[in-house]
Amino acid sequence: MKNFKNKTIIITGGASGLGLAAAKELASKGGNLSLVDYDEEGLKKAKEELKNEFLDIKVISILADVSEEEAVKNYVKTTLKEFGSIDGFLNNAGIEGDQAPMDEYDVDVFKKVVDINLMGVFYGLKYVLPEMKENGGKIVNMSSVGGLRGVINITPYVATKHSVAGMTKSAAMEFAKYNILTNALAPGAILTNMVAESMKKVNPENPKKAEEEFAKRNPMGRLGRPEEVAKVVAFLLSDDNSYINGQVIAIDGGESNIYGNL
Ligand code: NAD
Repeated sequence: MKNFKNKTIIITGGASGLGLAAAKELASKGGNLSLVDYDEEGLKKAKEELKNEFLDIKVISILADVSEEEAVKNYVKTTLKEFGSIDGFLNNAGIEGDQAPMDEYDVDVFKKVVDINLMGVFYGLKYVLPEMKENGGKIVNMSSVGGLRGVINITPYVATKHSVAGMTKSAAMEFAKYNILTNALAPGAILTNMVAESMKKVNPENPKKAEEEFAKRNPMGRLGRPEEVAKVVAFLLSDDNSYINGQVIAIDGGESNIYGNL
C-alpha cells in the first residue's frame, strides 16, 4: 500500500544501515525522501540505488554533519524548498565511539559522541518540530537498547542514547497538541556496518565469534536485520500510528528483558 504517497520524510544517517533500510521501506510505500549524511560517497550511492529501484518517488540527498547546527538548519530548509513540507522525520544518525572502560575513556571521543548522538538529535528536533506544527507529523528518534540498559565500555554511547530516550518523552509531551507524535526505537544488535565494526573491536582476531556469542545471548538466538527495524519505523511514521506517543520501543528479540540465565 502506497500510504506515504505525497509525503516527505527526512532521514539522517540515510546513507547506510538502518537509515538506508528505512529509506527503502518508505520508498516502497511511495514516500519522497530527503537523505542526510556526512558520508558523501555513501550518500551518492544510496540516492542512485533508491532512484533506480523506486521510479515513482523523488529523492534528494543533502551532505551534512548533524553535529553542526547550521548544517541541520540547512537540511531542513533545503527539504522544505524542494518538497514544501516535512511529514516524517527519522532522526537516526549516530556513532558508537571507542570501546574502553569509563576511567580510561578518551574525553575528546566522549565529546564527539555527545556532539553527534545527543546534540545532533536535539538540533534535528529543534528545527523540524516547528515545521510540523501546522499540519502535524511523526518523528522517530534512534535510541538503542543502550538507551534502556547499561552496556560495558561504551559510556558516551549509553549516556547519549538514554538522552535520546529522554528528549523523545519531552518532545512527545510538548508537541502532541500540534498532532506531532514523537517516539524512539531501541534496537538491540542489528547487522549493520556499525555492529560489524563493533564486533571487530570486541574480538579483533575473530569478529565472527564475537557475533556468535552475541547471538547466543539473545532469546531468538540471532542478531536483528535492518529490514526488521525499517518496518517499525514505517509504521510509526505512518497515519496508522495515531496514538503511540513518547514511547521507547525495543526491537531486540526480547533480549533487554533478560535477568538471569536463558
Ligand atoms: P551505520 O554506521 O551503518 O549508519 C550510520 C549512518 O549515520 C552512516 O551512514 C554515517 O555516515 C551516518 N552518520 C554518522 N554520524 C553522522 C553525522 N555526524 N552526520 C551525518 N551523518 C552521520 O550504523 P547503523 O547501525 O545504521 O546506526 C544507525 C543508528 O541506529 C545510530 O544512531 C545507532 O546508534 C543506532 N543503533 C544501531 C544499532 C545496531 O545494532 N545497528 C542498535 C541500536 C541503535
